Amino acid sequence: MTSMMAAVFRGADQPISVQSVELAPPGPHEVEVAIAGAGVCHSDLHMVRGEWEHRTPVVLGHEGSGVITAVGEGVTDLSVGDHVVLSWVPSCGECRFCLAGRVAQCQKSLEVIAAGGTLFDGTPRLTADGEACYHYLGVSSFAQRAVVPESGAIKVRRDAPLDVIALVGCAVATGVGAVRSTAQVPAGATVAVIGCGGVGLSCIQGARMVGASRIVAVDLVPAKLELALKLGATDTVDGRSGDVVARLKELVPDGLDFVFDAIGAIVTTEQAIGALGIGGAAVVVGLPPAGQTASFEPLSLAESEQRILGSNYGSCVPHRDIPDLIDRYMSGELDLDSMISARRPLAEASAALDDLASGSALRQLLLPNPDLL
Ligand SMILES: [Zn+2]
Ligand SMILES: [Zn+2]
Repeated sequence: MTSMMAAVFRGADQPISVQSVELAPPGPHEVEVAIAGAGVCHSDLHMVRGEWEHRTPVVLGHEGSGVITAVGEGVTDLSVGDHVVLSWVPSCGECRFCLAGRVAQCQKSLEVIAAGGTLFDGTPRLTADGEACYHYLGVSSFAQRAVVPESGAIKVRRDAPLDVIALVGCAVATGVGAVRSTAQVPAGATVAVIGCGGVGLSCIQGARMVGASRIVAVDLVPAKLELALKLGATDTVDGRSGDVVARLKELVPDGLDFVFDAIGAIVTTEQAIGALGIGGAAVVVGLPPAGQTASFEPLSLAESEQRILGSNYGSCVPHRDIPDLIDRYMSGELDLDSMISARRPLAEASAALDDLASGSALRQLLLPNPDLL
């Protein structure tokens, strides 16, 4: 057992506690990672607000990067000292979806890791105050160390800045993946992105990378729209100034080919569908609270041959896409630095979630082991 500091969540009615937690060594086909950077994402916020259920206590965080510090039995592709980015859908390699190459839909990962809060053997490696403590999406990166399935640790080049590349593990893989893999946006397409947080700004960069002809950024915060222009948006719509769908139709009168809802707030999903042109596709990539429903007019959808696509983790294949995205960052094609609004110590995990909730923050990185950087 290793003692370490971690951000533990016990329930929406209780404060997050950054405290000492015990971590067991990695089991077969698991690795231990010293966390260098941990991004603060809306999916952490959904849990903290009680909008998604999870077993508790649980160590938060599902976006992270670091260095391998120990490997379990049977691990052959990873060694101590390797730099890794963590994936929040570690794949089992055996289920129908893994065998078909759709690893972001791994059913064992969904049932055991996401729903159970454990690793693949159905047990957690974490203990807090003498009781079992659960993993969040097989990552739990708001901690000095994490034990994760080997398929959830993606080996990356060593010359990339270790804290920055944490973003690739969730926001960037999700946003760029939604454009490239889920929607397969072709060059010349017209695109709008609703919501300019980490995922939305990554959708905008993905749309720029594939050569979209128009990229309209929609947000409520002027500073985020400014940044969207820097990262590739051609136009902006301030969501506070009237009807978003009407504004989008003024900019692109025929309607858009693709609209990405990077918020998942129901009203934004309905705006995404409402702004589509003939043959257009609305892509739901931001995740709403559980149990909500949106509405649309099926007649219009049928007549205009429109599509509504769901995108989980950007339909990404982590072992293929994460190293590719880091190469694109290192070559200057992808801008990650501009998306980082703060670097904070692990002790400020709760304050960082508050700043994300208030809309004032972009991507914030927690640095649990500053000595690694
Ligand atoms: Zn996330
Ligand atoms: Zn699987």
